[in-house]
Amino acid sequence: MQTIGIIGAGISGLAAAKSFKERGYKITVLEKAAAIGGVWDRNRFYVNVTTQTTKNEYAYSDFPMPEHFHEWPTGDQMNQYLLDYAAHFDLLASIRCNTTVLDMQYEADAWQVAALDNCTGSNLSYVFDFVVVCTGTFHEKYIPSFPGMEAYRAAGGEILHTSEVTDQKLLRDKEVAVVGFAKSATDIATQAADISTSCTLLYRKAQWKVPRFFGNKINLKYLLFSRFSEAFFVPYHKTGFQKVLHSVGKPLVWAQWRAVELLLKKQFRLKQCGMVPGHRIEDQISCSLGIAPEGFYEKVRSKKINAVHTEIESFTTDGVVLKNGARIRPDLVVMGTGFRQSLPFLSGHYLQRICNEQGQFRLYRNIINPKLPALGFVGFNSSLFSTLTSEIAANWLAEYVSGNLSLPVPGEMVKERMLIDRWKKRTRPISSEFSGLCIAPFNFQHLDALMKDMGLKTAAGRNPVYNFFKPINPRDYHQLLKRFRTRKGTGTETGQPVTGGAPALSGN
Ligand SMILES: Cc1cc2nc3c(=O)[nH]c(=O)nc-3n(C[C@H](O)[C@H](O)[C@H](O)COP(=O)(O)OP(=O)(O)OC[C@H]3O[C@@H](n4cnc5c(N)ncnc54)[C@H](O)[C@@H]3O)c2cc1C
Repeated sequence: MQTIGIIGAGISGLAAAKSFKERGYKITVLEKAAAIGGVWDRNRFYVNVTTQTTKNEYAYSDFPMPEHFHEWPTGDQMNQYLLDYAAHFDLLASIRCNTTVLDMQYEADAWQVAALDNCTGSNLSYVFDFVVVCTGTFHEKYIPSFPGMEAYRAAGGEILHTSEVTDQKLLRDKEVAVVGFAKSATDIATQAADISTSCTLLYRKAQWKVPRFFGNKINLKYLLFSRFSEAFFVPYHKTGFQKVLHSVGKPLVWAQWRAVELLLKKQFRLKQCGMVPGHRIEDQISCSLGIAPEGFYEKVRSKKINAVHTEIESFTTDGVVLKNGARIRPDLVVMGTGFRQSLPFLSGHYLQRICNEQGQFRLYRNIINPKLPALGFVGFNSSLFSTLTSEIAANWLAEYVSGNLSLPVPGEMVKERMLIDRWKKRTRPISSEFSGLCIAPFNFQHLDALMKDMGLKTAAGRNPVYNFFKPINPRDYHQLLKRFRTRKGTGTETGQPVTGGAPALSGN
């Protein structure tokens, strides 16, 4: 393997580019957008977006976020951070923006990749020994279709996806309806409440949201991003502690979750908002867990946000008919209805090997499927701190390609994956979200498995009690990967590339 094609230049594509480059591979990154950043590209995020994860925990292991960044960095800060990362690790020259991958066929031991130059409209073709798919779980906007939508638009009504609300001007002085209850929907509703003529939030189901500071005091990172917090979920592989905790300690686990729910009910005054979720919080915690926007619940209580527990039935020329029988007349409907996963450049016969009938991905460690040679996925392991999980997956994949991983035989991989699938179905239905590509809340369990596969230690500090309670620290993984690079004699730490070679490119 010499030439590596990487599709996508978001957090995962950049991590993959760095991991392969530092091992001496010739990399080419193909990005369909005009700029790098993925969801953190300035043209793709909505106005006033911030991260959900705190800055130190959302950083790459070897590139801390600047001190002056907010604790929850803004979209602009994230964009700058990724540009700086790409420049610092000398990745920019390998990235071809405005290049959409259209098709890939595996022939003669290589991937023949067809792409489109979005600027000139010309066709491009590339040949790669190995392709890394880093197209993310949030790139295809999803707007459900309702009867009458076109007539509403034709009569002057506007329908936007949340990611298209890139300027507050779009909300100002309008009657706005926002659909959804996830992060983007409630973020937009909270802003619209201040600048729009009116703001109606239409939601199907109240979900638990968490505050930035629990009880207005404790930063969420201490309660959500540690091994301690992960222990309270029932995992596939239980540690000794978890075996005890989820047998004799079961009442304690139950009481802990009810205490968290009580705290959230009190802090947000959910009863007064009419927004007490009907499900247990532990069943909901996954990648879609949202942070409550500042002031959201207050605005619901004061009716600045008119929150209506219903769904859209249809559109008319002058508004929207709701399932509860009411009619509203918004000028603008903002759809916080999320994204769909799709890989349009992989034909059906390839997709069948890596996805089941329900569209759930079948990937070992969320990275490879032995049935598709020379193909890997980075970022298909979304988590509560995705930068790090992408970076560790990128290292794992680069090691795999270098032949440095000793993995089980394909039959064993399939068996393990099937066991996990069964466990997910029985124990954690929420894990089918995002086409099964979210590993949260088992972030550490997943990271530990990847680190062990690479023959690395799973914790940097010597004090197991401290390790257990402290929030994830990407810097630890820098230390752990450093040991690995020194031992293997690969990468920038030692300046010893393992292999090299000219790119086999044509048509560009
Ligand atoms: C508003 C928002 C806030 C978030 N906040 C957090 C957070 O706080 N913490 C957290 O852990 N996660 C968060 N996430 C999840 C986020 O998706 C990940 O953290 C991470 O940014 C994903 O990076 P990625 O590179 O895997 O995917 P993306 O950022 O989606 O990048 C994929 C790239 O692939 C490109 N691409 C797709 N198809 C093609 C093609 N055919 N040809 C060429 N290029 C293609 C796209 O243009 C895009 O640039 C957030 C997501 C959103 C939308």
